[in-house]
Amino acid sequence: MKTSWETRFAFRTNTLMSSAIREILKYTQIPDLISFAGGLPSPDVFPIEAFKAACEKVLSTQGSTALQYSITEGNIQLREFLVELTAEQGVKVDIDNILITNGSQQGLDLLGKIFINRGDKILVEAPSYLGALQAWNTYGADYIQIETDDDGIIPEALEKAMRVGPKFVYLLPNFQNPTGKTIPLGRRKELIEICERFGTPIIEDDPYGKLRYEGEDIPSVMALDSQMRNQTDQPYDGNVIYTSTFSKILAPGLRLAWVIAPKEVIQKLVYSKQGTDLHTSTFVQMIAHEITKNNFLDGQLKIIKEAYGKRRQVMLDTLTELFPAEASWTVPQGGLFLWVTLPESIRTEDMLKKAVERKVAYVPGSPFFPNDGGENTMRLNFSNASEEEIVEGMKRLSEVIKNELAGN
Ligand code: PMP
Repeated sequence: MKTSWETRFAFRTNTLMSSAIREILKYTQIPDLISFAGGLPSPDVFPIEAFKAACEKVLSTQGSTALQYSITEGNIQLREFLVELTAEQGVKVDIDNILITNGSQQGLDLLGKIFINRGDKILVEAPSYLGALQAWNTYGADYIQIETDDDGIIPEALEKAMRVGPKFVYLLPNFQNPTGKTIPLGRRKELIEICERFGTPIIEDDPYGKLRYEGEDIPSVMALDSQMRNQTDQPYDGNVIYTSTFSKILAPGLRLAWVIAPKEVIQKLVYSKQGTDLHTSTFVQMIAHEITKNNFLDGQLKIIKEAYGKRRQVMLDTLTELFPAEASWTVPQGGLFLWVTLPESIRTEDMLKKAVERKVAYVPGSPFFPNDGGENTMRLNFSNASEEEIVEGMKRLSEVIKNELAGN
């Protein structure tokens, strides 16, 4: 008898849906299509020669270690490097506060696995990062969208929502995905103070913090929490769990990232990761350490910031020049994305098909809202297309929008 798979799947499997973004990424395969849809770094900045040299060096000097199983927590030298990087950001940790993961995406999933019971309330920015929403859906998260303004999540709205007894608050303070917004210093402190008062943890997701093209760096939420607790000279043991990644500063194909948290949390994450994949690739971790150990990132970040900073400016210029007066958009100080709001009459999900016919793609805004909203918004990525492609793609997109407004 043929198995009926539908009835065999676990309840949680029914919540699994392919992310709208993954679906849209399929469009990037269409020839001549200019995509502002994915969150792809530019291959122009991949340090391929440095990778070649690092592979050669690791294999010839430590080949048998690189190809062997290893510990779940992650390569010790790489974690020592991250201890230093974190100290530069104003947080004291030791290697036991760090777990190496297969991308931040895995860190987010493991956090869901150790924290979320079905029906737990999770407070998220409206809109928020789709990948996290998707990961935590599996565990039965019940999202509460917190209202945002130009400076991100609004403290009064957060405070009000605290009444539901949330499991945690999920924040993307730097150049948020999807909006490109940054939470200013004063507001970060207010948010930390509210979470402290209610004893609610914060998950701080920071893949883009090092990609700032203008303005001053702002201390991470974890750094501010550690300062506010007078904990800067002892290993961090506060309310914040932090994750960042090598995806945007080296290469996403590495699938390499890290979580920083109080030791008690790291221990549970380690057990949880053991059940998932035993550990992150020994080889990849050693390559990343080999590349980054002599301040390589300083030069690499300069190259990336120069390229993306220019692309961001081209996109902002074309928005001003070409988009209808009724449209508005964020001006991100860093990261990979900006967020466009169109007149209410436009449904960006419906308009996408017409845009793809004109060979330009974006991500409609509404999937980033776990409950509802954002039907007239879109996320545009400015890191992947060249400056020329941005000009051409924005021309096409503005025509699609103008046609839509004219009711064609
Ligand atoms: N968090 C955010 C906010 C992201 O934008 C991304 C990638 N687009 C991730 C996490 C996952 O990054 P990775 O798994 O490549 O480290």
